[in-house]
Order: sequence, then C-alpha cells, then structure tokens
Amino acid sequence: MTRIKQLSEMLSNQIAAGEVVERPASVVKELCENSLDAGAQRLDLELDAGGTRLIRLRDDGMGIEPDDLPLALSPHATSKIASLEDLEKVTSLGFRGEALASIASVSRLTLTSATEDADHATRIRLDGRGEPDMVPAAHPRGTTVEVKDLFFNTPARRKFLRTERTEYNHCEEVMRRLALARPDVGFVLRHNAKATLSLKPAQTQVEREQRIASLCSKGFIESSIGIEFEAMGLRLRGWVGLPTFNRSQADLQYFFVNGRIVRDRLVTHAIRQAYRDVMYHDRHPAYVLYLEMDPAGVDVNVHPTKHEVRFRESRGVHDFLFHSLHRALADTRAGAQPLASVQIDEVDSVASNASSLTGQPVTQIEQANLWSRPNAAAVSDTMAVYQALSAPSAAVSRGESVQPSAPALADMEHDDIPPLGFALAQLKGVFILAENRDGLVVIDMHAAHERITYERMKQAHREGGVRAQPLLVPMTIALSRREADCVEEHAATLSQLGLELQRRGEEAVMVRQVPVMLSGADIAQLVRDVIADLMQYGNSSRIEGNMDEIMAGMACHAAVRANRQLTIAEMNALLRDMERTERSGQCNHGRPTWAVQSMAELNRLFLRGR
Ligand code: ADP
Ligand code: MG
Repeated sequence: MTRIKQLSEMLSNQIAAGEVVERPASVVKELCENSLDAGAQRLDLELDAGGTRLIRLRDDGMGIEPDDLPLALSPHATSKIASLEDLEKVTSLGFRGEALASIASVSRLTLTSATEDADHATRIRLDGRGEPDMVPAAHPRGTTVEVKDLFFNTPARRKFLRTERTEYNHCEEVMRRLALARPDVGFVLRHNAKATLSLKPAQTQVEREQRIASLCSKGFIESSIGIEFEAMGLRLRGWVGLPTFNRSQADLQYFFVNGRIVRDRLVTHAIRQAYRDVMYHDRHPAYVLYLEMDPAGVDVNVHPTKHEVRFRESRGVHDFLFHSLHRALADTRAGAQPLASVQIDEVDSVASNASSLTGQPVTQIEQANLWSRPNAAAVSDTMAVYQALSAPSAAVSRGESVQPSAPALADMEHDDIPPLGFALAQLKGVFILAENRDGLVVIDMHAAHERITYERMKQAHREGGVRAQPLLVPMTIALSRREADCVEEHAATLSQLGLELQRRGEEAVMVRQVPVMLSGADIAQLVRDVIADLMQYGNSSRIEGNMDEIMAGMACHAAVRANRQLTIAEMNALLRDMERTERSGQCNHGRPTWAVQSMAELNRLFLRGR
C-alpha cells in the first residue's frame, strides 16, 4: 500500500479535463460559450487539422482585466456566479470556472485580451507545465484564445482522436448549434485557411429564416411550420418540420432551453408524442425549437458538459410542449401553407423540378389557418359520398353539398378558389389531378381518404363512440377459439369502435353492426385485423392507450382502393374534405397526400418564356 498524497493542481486539472475536453469540438464549445457570455457580437474561429493542431477563437466581447488573467486560467475561478443563489438562476452558458484551466492542462494555450478602457492588451501563456507568463500585446477590445497541439501531453487521449475530417465535422456541428442558438451573432469558421462557414448577424425574421435555411437546409425551412406558443411562463418558438419532411435519423433536432442546446429525454418524448399520429414509428421529425422560461425553473448543473437539464416542473413542461406541437401539427391540413415567411429562391434547373413535385408547395407562402376546422355538420354532409366512395360497387350517390363539376377557374375570384382547387381527372386509378390557383395538384387518393377516415373515427370516438350501422345480412366469420374469446372479453371496446360482434359457438362470431364509415370495407378482413390488434395489446388499459393505432388500422381498410373509378363530384368531395381535416397533409404513415406543380414550374419544364 502507498500513502495518500494531495494531487498536484496540474494533475487534477487534467483529470477534470477528462470530463469536459473529449476532443477538439469540446474545446470549440467551451471557447465559443465564453465569448457569447462576454457579449460578443462576432466570433471568428480558425481550425487547423480538424482542430488538433490549432483552435483559434477571436471575439469582440468585453475582454478580461489584466489582473484577472491568471485567474481565468485557474480552476474554480469564474466571473459568472458568486453564490448558490446565483447558481440557481444562472443565465450564462458557463459557471463552473474550470473549462480554461482544463483545456490549458492538456494543450499549449495562449489568451490575449483587452477591455474597453485598457490602453493595451495583455497576453498570457501556459505551455502545459505550470507558471503562466504575461506580456503586453496588441489586440482590439475582445479576446483571442489559441489552443495548440491538443492532448500533446496526454497520449492516451490523443489515441482516441479520429480523422481530421471527423474532428472537423464535430467542430462544425458545435458551431452550427451555437449559430442556431444565437442568430443575432455573426459567425465565421475557417479550416486549414479555407473559409467554411460565414454567417452574418440576423436581425429580421427573414434573415433568421435564411440562417436556419443555410444551417439546416433549404428543404427544412420550406417544409416547416413557424410556431410560437406561450403559457404558464413558458414560451416556445421556432420551426417544426412538416410530418412529410420526416427523416430516417434523428439528425435534425435542435432544442434550446434559454439559449442552451439540450438533449433531454423528457423533451424528446413530448415531441415524439406530438408527432405520433402523423409519422411512422421508425421515422424522425425535424425541428429547431427555443424554449424560454424562468432560469430558476430549470437546473443546468446536472452534467459537466451541460447537455442535460432538469426541469423543476417537468410534467408541466412536458404537457406544454406536447400540446403546443400537437396543435401546430393539427393544422397540417392539405392546402394549408407552411407559416414560414421566408422568400424561397426559384429552382433554376429543369432537372430539379422532378423533386420539387414530391414536396409541399412553397411557391407562394402565406398564413395558414385560413381554412375552417372539420365540424360535425360538414362531416354528415359528405357522409353519403363517403359511403359511395367506400362501396365496392361503382354506384354513386351524390351529396347535396358536392360541387357537380369543375367550374372554370378563370371565371373565379382568386380568393374563391379552394386551396386544392377542382378535380380534372383521375390518373391510373391512383391519383386525382386537380387545378388550383398555382397550377397542377396531384392527390394520392388512397392516402388522403385513409387520413380523413382516421381523423373522423378519432373524432367520433372522442364524442362517445363510432356510429354503427346494422348489416342487412349478418355475416359469420370463422376464428380461432382464442380470437373468439377475445371478442367476448372486449365486447364493450369493440362496440365503441362501432363493431357489434356476437359469439357463435366455439370458433366463430357473427357480425351484426359495422361502423357507418367503414361499411364498404372487406368486413371479414377488418374484423380479423381489429381482433389481432386487440390480442396484441392484451389488457384493457393497453388497448385504451393504443386506440388511435387500432383506429388507424381500421381506417386503412376503408380507404378507396386503387382502380376505383371516381366521378368528378366524388373527387371534389374528397378535396374539400382534405381541406377541412386536421393533419390531412400526410397519410397515417407520414407520407404526403398531395403535391403541387406550379405554373412557373411547368413553364420551366417546357422551357416556355425563355
Ligand atoms: P466559466 O465560463 O465557467 O466561468 P471558464 O474557465 O470557461 O469558466 O472561464 C473562466 C473565466 O474567464 C470566465 O468566468 C470569464 O470571466 C473569463 N473568460 C473566459 N473567456 C472569456 C472571453 N472570451 N471573454 C471574456 N472573458 C472570458
Ligand atoms: Mg466557460
């Protein structure tokens, strides 16, 4: 056994560095946060070899008093808090007072700084061994920190560094997050003496959206909804991607709490829940969201890198996020435009026109919410048409409210033309073609009908149960004994779903009533699928919790099958219903239900007007 010894300051700093300095990107994060805390309006970052050889950050912040310079580099020294009360309502990004000391212990660090009223700047240097050395220097107001040869004295750490490209990418991602957090600040990034990122400070909403577009792709801002909600001292702003802009990875998700990026399980959960109804399980939503709240309501001192936070009122925050986003997404009706007011550049190559057809329309962006919510009256108006749509026969019964044929658009006032326009024809039994004020609209009729039926079932279920209609000739379906048992056990749930089933002997049930809106479906298949869902969820509380999934499954059976010939009136009824129905811009799996090809795009396709 050896005796207990006090660690040298150097060694304890190096141990602390293990927590916060994992790679060049961690240094970039700490240095940039210090500059932002110092009120800098412009950050200039230079990297060599992915930041492993050199990281140099220059800012125009308030600078450091010469006498404080040695303190800035010593552990547990900070200008940001002085007491526990300060810590509990801290608004700066840093407060632990150990970043510079840690970084200095594993690199060759030089810091040059000048305050407003100093007559010259001062430079302090630490070479990873001990005593700092201070000299006068030239530097405008602000601070430059230079970190050379990261991990030169800690070979074990150096081994974990990846390729230059990978390390650079991590640094860039850190910059990206900070630039999203602080649109009012200018950022410049250079790598191996080449400019890689240059962002002017954004003052106006349009400039902010341009910054989002350059950091998160133009596609994101074009297919997102701008939101702003406020309640209970919480304010949520930002952009959420339309469900049709879903991604295979969770790589476009930025959430800031009081200007600090966080990865929080509670936040992620609330957002996922809000998207649950409009996106397939294995897809991920995209968002850039800013939550502002009383700093006393959130504990940021949970983790050394401060990526996690703890909300004091976690339930309240969760519910606020969920309800705000759920509401925003309910407005993703077909025909409603994204809220973003950014001016989108015209697509200039003919080749890229093909891809623009798959996205949501972006040519003319206006306020959404122009279209009324679905209401009970509207639902019953078109019910007759729906029964005809779902019916296996080609028989058509026309509802009163249905537009008999497409009126000439040229004769109509601009504002009278509904967002999805009027049907022209059906293509291959799969798509509806329509004309609106922008140009050609293409609608996936199965996907659209499925979403409408699903939303309608949910609404009916909320209002006390799905309306059922007796079968003229009751139908007997053969089942396994377990399935028949399940029918008996969950009779009440089934009847809420509009299904009236009666056991017939050991291995059969008789179907007496089915939901009105599903009367055209393949009843035997529908019943088997619902029973399969019930058996999968097992007990009643899990069934109750998954009612939406069960109804989504049912809606799928009702939807217009491909190759059903629709009349123009039926097609128009479907379009009007899409405009009225919440979330109808995407099918139950998050695929778009419609797309538009504007006249401008069509003209370009045919090289007209050149
Ligand atoms: P913390 O940020 O947690 O206070 P740091 O070790 O990162 O700890 O920095 C120590 C102190 O050095 C800060 O509290 C701040 O006063 C000063 N400082 C660091 N970087 C800058 C900068 N770019 N401009 C002005 N002051 C700075
Ligand atoms: Mg700091």
